[in-house]
Order: sequence, then C-alpha cells, then structure tokens
Amino acid sequence: MTKKKSLGTICIQGGWEPKNGEPRQLPIYQSTTFKYTTSEQMGRLFDLEESEYFYTSLSNRTNDAVSAKICVLEGGVGAMLTSSGQAANFYAVLNLCQAGDHIISTATIYGGTTNLFTVTLPKMGISCTLVNPDAPAEEIAKEFRPNTKAVFGETIANPALTVLDIEKFAKLAHDHGVPLIVDNTFATPINCRPFEWGADIVTHSTTKYMDGHAMTVGGCIVDSGNFDWEAHHDKFTGLTEPDESYHGIVYTQKFGKLAYITKATSQLMRDLGSIQSPQHAFLINIGLETLHLRMPRHCENALKVAEYLKSREDVAWVNYPGLPGDKYYELAQKYMPNGTCGVISFGLTGGRAAAAEFMDKLKFCSIETHVADSRTAVLHPASHTHRQLTDEQLVEAGVDPSMIRFSVGIEDAEDIIEDIRQALED
Ligand SMILES: *Cc1c(COP(=O)(O)O)cnc(C)c1O
Repeated sequence: MTKKKSLGTICIQGGWEPKNGEPRQLPIYQSTTFKYTTSEQMGRLFDLEESEYFYTSLSNRTNDAVSAKICVLEGGVGAMLTSSGQAANFYAVLNLCQAGDHIISTATIYGGTTNLFTVTLPKMGISCTLVNPDAPAEEIAKEFRPNTKAVFGETIANPALTVLDIEKFAKLAHDHGVPLIVDNTFATPINCRPFEWGADIVTHSTTKYMDGHAMTVGGCIVDSGNFDWEAHHDKFTGLTEPDESYHGIVYTQKFGKLAYITKATSQLMRDLGSIQSPQHAFLINIGLETLHLRMPRHCENALKVAEYLKSREDVAWVNYPGLPGDKYYELAQKYMPNGTCGVISFGLTGGRAAAAEFMDKLKFCSIETHVADSRTAVLHPASHTHRQLTDEQLVEAGVDPSMIRFSVGIEDAEDIIEDIRQALED
C-alpha cells in the first residue's frame, strides 16, 4: 500500500495487492518450487542477486503476503513466517547468538520459551539469565556480560500477565549495545506496537490471536530495521562479516536494514527449515482480516469478566492488567491504552480443589490447552501444564496452585458470566 493506512485497513488489505485480473483473495501458492527458463537466472537467485521465488522453503508468495501484512501492522521493515511461535523465538535469538554467547530474559515468560532459553539453548552453548521484570534498571544492568547479545521479554506475559516496561528494557539493551526482542503475542499490534517504544525485533506466536480460531500453529519474526549492527560490529559478526555459506556475503553491507531478516531466512531457514506451509499462511491471513475487530471485543469481555470475578466473595484474587487496581494497570495504560488482551487469571478461596470443581461445572467455556481463541477456554496450570510440580515448586515458578487461566472469548459477555456464575453457585 502506497499511503500509510490505519491498522484495520492493513488487517483487511495489507500484504496482497492483486493486479488487474488477479484473484481478489490471497491465493495459496501450493507449490514447493517455481519455474525458470535460463540456468543463469536460477544461479542469480541462489546468489541472492535477485529476490524472485525459487523454493518454498525460503520464500513463497502466500507466506510473503502474510508476513508483509504482519510487518506493516508492526511498523517493521522485514518479516518472516515460521512454523510455530517457538521456532520464531528460537530463530530470533539464534540469528544473533552462537556457542559462548549469552542473553538476558525476563523470568515471567511463556513456559515453552523458558525451557528453550534455560534448557535447550544452554545445550548449544548459549546461556540465559532470567531477571525479575519489575527489578530496578540498575539491578538488571548488573546481569550484562561482554558476551550478552540480546534482551528478551513479553509485552504481556503468558500466563503471569505481567506487563513489560518496554522503554526501560529498550534503554537497558541499547546502553549495552544489544537489541531488545519483544514477544508481542498477547497484545498483538492492534493493542501495542513495541517498535514505537524502542524494541528492535518483535516475535509472535500467530497460533494465538492472529489466527484467533484455533486452526493453525505458526509464528513470525519482524525486524524494525532500527538496530545499528555495524555500530557494534564485533558483537554481531554473523551479520557484519562475510558468510562463507553464501560466497562471502556481508548481510549488513548487501542488505542494509534488511540484514537481520535476510540472514534469518537465507541462513537459518535454509539450514533448520521450520517453514510455515502456504495452506496455514492462508488461514492465518483469514484470521488477520478480523484481528482489529476481535481484539477490542476480547478486551471488553475480559474486563467485564474480571470485574464480575472481583465482585465475588468466593474469588480470592484476580489478575488482569486492564482492570483498574491491578499491579500492572498503570504500565498497561501507558503501553496499551486501548486494551490489553483477553486472558485473565484468578484464584478461588477454596484453592486447588475448588478450581477443579469449578472447571468441571462450566458448560460452554471449555477446558483446553490453548489461549487467545475466539471461544472462551479455561485451564488450571497446577493440574495441567505444570502438573509435575509440587505446590512449593509451583510458587517458585510464579504459578499460584489455585491459579485458573481464563481466556475470554468473543461470545456475549453476559453468557460467559452466567456460565461462571452457575459453575460457582449451582
Ligand atoms: C504460545 C506462545 C508461544 C509459543 O507459540 P507456539 O505457536 O505454540 O509454538 C510463545 N510465546 C507466547 C507468548 C505464547 O503465548
């Protein structure tokens, strides 16, 4: 799109601009490969001299339309789809780090990402220090080392629902010559655009609100193009020095602001292959077309449900950053004045046993290992995702044994509240 459009228009029209006589809906380019007439042209594609399509593992027109849409929504310069949110976070870090390097991440991040950073990456020689996101900047600053290559956090953490002080973390990262990577899955660019607050790279699990219908697992990495890799040449030699696997290409010299995404695509995707399928990209695009309509409704419903829960005597506590009085309300107002997300957590006075009974009595709010779906879903981390932990270990992991994670959908709020009421009372 030539002129800058607002977010809703990008959700509907971004990424795919058909020319005269071309399909109105984004086509699924269901082909692993693309045809050329001269051997020389194919050679130029392999040398990254031309950016036409040649192998879906590196680029596909359906996938590119969807990544372009997400890129514009976030205000970035380049983006790449991945097969999952896990792959997006893995590649986002691995594109900057190698054995011997170190990253800093907030402790309150998605469990799968904690595991990736503290168990799997260390096996590859990349270490991670977890920090309390609310600690003073001076304290977090002490965790930087000469080999630190990135800082990571989640806009709204899943399931802790802490809100990241993006400006604080961006300043910390930049003062130490490294980029800030923000997982913006829960807020989505409809509610927060981390680049506007200084983040350098954004990741998504598109599996959540972007898809929105619990259809496809997927991820995306978006680069703002703002981080000056050359200014820290020796830290990021993977980007600033010749890549022997591409005839000595220097990504920063050849691709400028697109260096990071080009390296992620042409090197990591080539070697590791966590590609998104064009079929799934098509479905993600259908989800994206209504993201700007669904997010406000998720937030409106979640606030009503949070207020209702807060008013009940048998509810011991409620966490929702959109709820006035919440520990993260002020930060949420700063970074997400139009709304946060649809996920709430709460505990019943009856604790763990009451949580299980409550969930069993729900009628249409279903028990699922999923969040951010258009349907309301509920999970008890102590009995499900974290069931191997004792109550003591749960508290250490920041998961209250009574915690119910409630992902408020876009049904009618009064029906969701009535389902909760009858499950607590009848
Ligand atoms: C779900 C989730 C992930 C992992 O995404 P998958 O698509 O399930 O691999 C990463 N980060 C956050 C914040 C998530 O909610």
